[in-house]
Amino acid sequence: MFKLWSFPGGIHLDTHKEESCRAPLQFARLPKELIYPLLGRGGLNSKPMVEPGERVLKGQVIARDDSPMNPPIHAATSGRVRAIEQRPLPHPSGLPDLCIVIDADGKDEAIEFEGLADYRGQGPEALRARIHEAGIVGLGGAAFPTSVKLDPGERRHIDTLVLNGAECEPYITCDDSLMRHCPGEVLGGAKILMHILGVARCLLGIENDMPEAIAALEAELLQGEYPGIEIVPVTAVYPTGGEKQLIKVLTGREVPANGIPADAGVVCQNVATAAAIHKAIIHGEPLISRIVTVTGLGIQRPQNLLVRIGTPIAELVEQCGGYTESAQRLILGGPMMGLALPIDELPIIKSANCILVASGIEIIGEKQAMPCIRCGECANACPVNLLPQQLYWYSRADNLERVRDYQLADCIECGCCDVVCPSHIPLVQYFRSAKSKVAAKERERKKADHARERFESRQARKEREKLERAESARRKKELLEKIKDSHM
Ligand code: SF4
Ligand code: SF4
Repeated sequence: MFKLWSFPGGIHLDTHKEESCRAPLQFARLPKELIYPLLGRGGLNSKPMVEPGERVLKGQVIARDDSPMNPPIHAATSGRVRAIEQRPLPHPSGLPDLCIVIDADGKDEAIEFEGLADYRGQGPEALRARIHEAGIVGLGGAAFPTSVKLDPGERRHIDTLVLNGAECEPYITCDDSLMRHCPGEVLGGAKILMHILGVARCLLGIENDMPEAIAALEAELLQGEYPGIEIVPVTAVYPTGGEKQLIKVLTGREVPANGIPADAGVVCQNVATAAAIHKAIIHGEPLISRIVTVTGLGIQRPQNLLVRIGTPIAELVEQCGGYTESAQRLILGGPMMGLALPIDELPIIKSANCILVASGIEIIGEKQAMPCIRCGECANACPVNLLPQQLYWYSRADNLERVRDYQLADCIECGCCDVVCPSHIPLVQYFRSAKSKVAAKERERKKADHARERFESRQARKEREKLERAESARRKKELLEKIKDSHM
């Protein structure tokens, strides 16, 4: 029997998974237009590789950046670039930014994909380069570049790959659907990941309320050659699917504060990322589509759709029968950690696992906030052992030093504290705001450090030039005196 561990806190939530699981997985229709935001990590825009009017093919790179943090962007179908223009983004800022807009031509013509069935002949570096070139980022929601995560550095010894199939947030079932329908791609991706990392052990953590997905994975394990891979059902407690929480549950190891899983000898990847890696390496297909859950009481026919990246959300809503009368809020992600969207004319991006069209009763944190009664429920629920009550006081008071002392950076914004707070205080909102203030202050500090360094190096250069001029004048004088002496 596999030994499981537990993490502190956590809560039991109504899962609302069955709504979107009733209908079979379907292909989303080919949209008329696809939208590709150029904004990448670190606030930098990728550079367009195409021009307005140019014809593009499915799988063609349309934008890239020099940084390994921003993998290339690929067209998800064939068509013509209509414009490179400002469009609203599915981003917390809600501000518009540059996007490549493609008019689909309906032909769906693709470039030639070059697969690599015998990937074992390739070393980790070559495979990571392929994964980067295929545009793969973490599909669990964080969109961290996968090739970077697969390069933990020589200093760290990795012995375990954890595959995250513990889709713990209510309403979201895209990973469940993927594991039911494509277990071979998930486990095939796991084998490639194990080869890259040089590990002999892979633990696939999956919540025990997904019996069909577990059965599909186990059947695939029996049929294929998957040495070292274990399917491990875990208790459905929110947020078991958090990276650090799942690692703790499966291995008993703690990822240190301010550390990464690799510091505990583990690399963790989402199951959908593993499947995308399988497609990219074996079939040469870049990341141009993903499964998206469209659900909530505000949508007529909740379901999972295989969607091309860049598809406008409005097209998915239409394919799911449109909005119901109770639709009140559009959320990208789940009710706990999702991002409220102002409009549906926004594209599906790589990290978009769910579109929740929430009715009033499905929206968390809508009740009138009351004063804190110091009950401590938030601390009991916190899976990271933080003190949300203190973080709340200091966030409210803009005391950024103290929020740092109380480890705000470790908050995974899971929302457990919000849900249990009897005073309905929107704690996570305070924490997000405090985090962005800390980040802004850090940026200011770096800017000031940079300006100071530039000033100091300018001063040093001036001083050096002054000394060089004095030295040159001295030499010149010496030479002149020598010439004068020789004429005498
Ligand atoms: S749960 Fe709410 S009321 Fe209770 S201590 Fe935490 S913030 Fe205060
Ligand atoms: S949102 Fe942050 S503080 Fe609140 S329970 Fe989750 S990790 Fe803890």
